[in-house]
Amino acid sequence: MKKDQEIFDLIEREHQRQLKGMELIASENFVSDEVMAAMGSCLTNKYAEGLPGKRYYGGCQVVDEVEDLARNRVKKLFDAEFANVQPHSGAQANAAVLLAVLQPGDTFMGLNLDHGGHLSHGSHVNTSGLLYKPVGYNLNRETGRVDYDEMERLALEHKPKLIIGGGSAYSREWDYARMRKIADEVGAILLIDMAHPAGLIAAGLLDNPLKYAHIVTSTTHKTLRGPRGGIILMGKDFDNPWGLTTKKGEVKKMSMLLNSAVFPGTQGGPLEHVIAAKAVGFGENLDPSWKEYAMQVKKNAVVLAEDLMQRGFTIVSGGTDNHSMLVDLRAKYPDLTGKLAENALVAADITVNKNMVPFDTRSAFLTSGIRLGSAAITTRGAKEDMMHLIAGLIEEVLNDPENEVVIKRVREKVNATMKDYPLFAY
Ligand code: PLP
Repeated sequence: MKKDQEIFDLIEREHQRQLKGMELIASENFVSDEVMAAMGSCLTNKYAEGLPGKRYYGGCQVVDEVEDLARNRVKKLFDAEFANVQPHSGAQANAAVLLAVLQPGDTFMGLNLDHGGHLSHGSHVNTSGLLYKPVGYNLNRETGRVDYDEMERLALEHKPKLIIGGGSAYSREWDYARMRKIADEVGAILLIDMAHPAGLIAAGLLDNPLKYAHIVTSTTHKTLRGPRGGIILMGKDFDNPWGLTTKKGEVKKMSMLLNSAVFPGTQGGPLEHVIAAKAVGFGENLDPSWKEYAMQVKKNAVVLAEDLMQRGFTIVSGGTDNHSMLVDLRAKYPDLTGKLAENALVAADITVNKNMVPFDTRSAFLTSGIRLGSAAITTRGAKEDMMHLIAGLIEEVLNDPENEVVIKRVREKVNATMKDYPLFAY
């Protein structure tokens, strides 16, 4: 019996939910026991404002080594010259970059939310849209891929100071070289948010945006399979384009602006227990076995997308290059909302999330699509055969989403199947 049995009972209920279900949320994954142990360690007790070797608190000699390990490992992983591993989340990493490179009211560009962008790339309810002036670019209606011609036209028209690439529901590789060309044409800084595909990039299966972008951000908990958190990277440090200098008159490097935008700009003390877990995760990403996992993630996503398309589902852009796909439900089920589809599948222990599709006529609350991803289920050991099973179960539920008998039958099949797919020891 724990002192706070109430909360530990809830944790166990969540554990059982994760164990029994098929997890298809594209932004989720299951961390290893060592990542989990580092997160639940005594490092949570330590204050460490500042950076290794330059802290505002005493007693940081050990956490300095932890944070240095995390920085060095992630730099090796992505071939980066600069890393800040302190952002508490992906959205905070992005907020820090915007604080470092923009002034309130400045114009920047990002992929529109309803075309697969992220809230922190200019949504009117996020600081990115509240403090700065976002101009959204879109996907091409025919191809379902980023419309780089439109991006260029908008950049020439609006002269943004920053252009953001990357998104939350985009299944295709990005043309980073083209984006850098557009950014250079208008004198903008290029930020790539690789939060979703970072684990595949780490494995060398997708192009590395650090070769093209001025600044790269990521979360650490999606395909990278580390703890919940954010990072900021640069392939090469550079002088700030605004001629800002230190008190001694030295030109400020971008690294200085980014570090101070994280702390004290947007955060207080870093979460050293999470940074330790990030280091463990990066260590796993650097291990040769990581490539095998990442290849399976990609293979599984392709098989799932192809099977769904054979069943008459529409996948935006006609497929996937990464771990994710956006299913447009409108052609196969004109009356089915993403909300109802999500609820029915969740009731069958197949966890997905509703998502707006490009040119959606329904609101963000209802939506016409669902987003699927293969990273978490692949961590459980799923291979291609499981993807065929999942496609069939999704169709079975969505053909009759309010039929409790169907939902129960599918849930029992899901629970029985997942018994053979272990979830680490915790
Ligand atoms: N950037 C992208 C592209 C994302 O998809 C997400 C989250 O889904 C984030 C940033 C935000 O990450 P967090 O939830 O850790 O703030």
